[in-house]
Amino acid sequence: MEKIVAGQIKSYDPPTIKAFIEKGFQETGLSITGRVLVKPNLLSGKAPERAVTTHPVFLSALIELLKDHSCTVCLGDSPGYESLERVLKAGQYTDMLTHLGVTIVPFTKDVIKRIDGVSPYHEFLFGEDPGQYDHIINVPKLKTHGMMGMTLAVKNTFGFVRGFAKGRWHLRAGIDRALFASILVDIHSIAMPSVNILDGILGMSGNGPSNGAPSELGIIALSRNGLALDDLIEQRLCPGAEHPVTECARMNGLLTPYEVVDLGMPSVPSFAMPPSCATDWNLPSPLKKALRAIMVKKPKGNPKNCRLCGICVRVCPSHAVSIRNDTLHFDYSACIRCYCCQEMCPHDAIRV
Ligand code: SF4
Ligand code: SF4
Repeated sequence: MEKIVAGQIKSYDPPTIKAFIEKGFQETGLSITGRVLVKPNLLSGKAPERAVTTHPVFLSALIELLKDHSCTVCLGDSPGYESLERVLKAGQYTDMLTHLGVTIVPFTKDVIKRIDGVSPYHEFLFGEDPGQYDHIINVPKLKTHGMMGMTLAVKNTFGFVRGFAKGRWHLRAGIDRALFASILVDIHSIAMPSVNILDGILGMSGNGPSNGAPSELGIIALSRNGLALDDLIEQRLCPGAEHPVTECARMNGLLTPYEVVDLGMPSVPSFAMPPSCATDWNLPSPLKKALRAIMVKKPKGNPKNCRLCGICVRVCPSHAVSIRNDTLHFDYSACIRCYCCQEMCPHDAIRV
């Protein structure tokens, strides 16, 4: 049976984090050696206290431990719209990674990966080949997500898809969260992390994944199985909400029973989910489409915060955002409610 080791760490104290991860490796029978690729959440260049990205101290503790295990450590991701170099600098990672001798890997290759999985698609273009490494170590940040409810271990491996190519998958899935969830599950299966280590010490609630409220949750969790880890966190933090990714895994027989080694993981009864709305009603297609257009929350601009930088225009996969006469416009008939605009806006100027 899969094991999840879950605990409480109240602050970014390197020895405590390192000790927890070592304990997690022991409990789950993991032996990590060789060439490893660490895949954090590096969505955009934000300071650690914004809780958008995996905390640099969390990563340094993990990397030190991997070095103790004589691993050769690489680290990479494909940020939303900025270069990896810029994200690392803004997030205060660069000096630490240089000091620890980590090889930086921007996910900018064109690697075709094939799978006969749970989505209707069988070919995915990755920015890096996970098969080149002895181990993939997935290090997600615990955050809310406007479209998918939460972003945890499975959603974090979507970062293997190159920057703007992510938008193409949003466009294909459109407003169908179940379809997008199946795409995420397939991508996660291809990436196949050896272990998933969740940074929820400082997580994000509310209007995530970029502009929510940083929340001192004190949660850390580790599992070889990302689907199980996501399910545990969702059940503990927001059991009443819809979780399309784990639902997809459950329906396809991928979410198997698991054992929790609970080292004191806190409960967070007041955890705030994003104000999104379910879209997967069991109705005939035309009716469903019409209802979705009315009922699914629309992204809305906040002119007070908007600096007209144009990032939302660039990332919108359905070209539904434009800037005219120094004002942001949404074409809601084209909008597929993927919330990429809200996710990528650096100035908290889009709400759902
Ligand atoms: S809404 Fe955000 S991303 Fe879009 S133009 Fe304004 S500041 Fe830039
Ligand atoms: S306007 Fe925003 S929510 Fe709508 S399709 Fe574009 S990026 Fe997605």
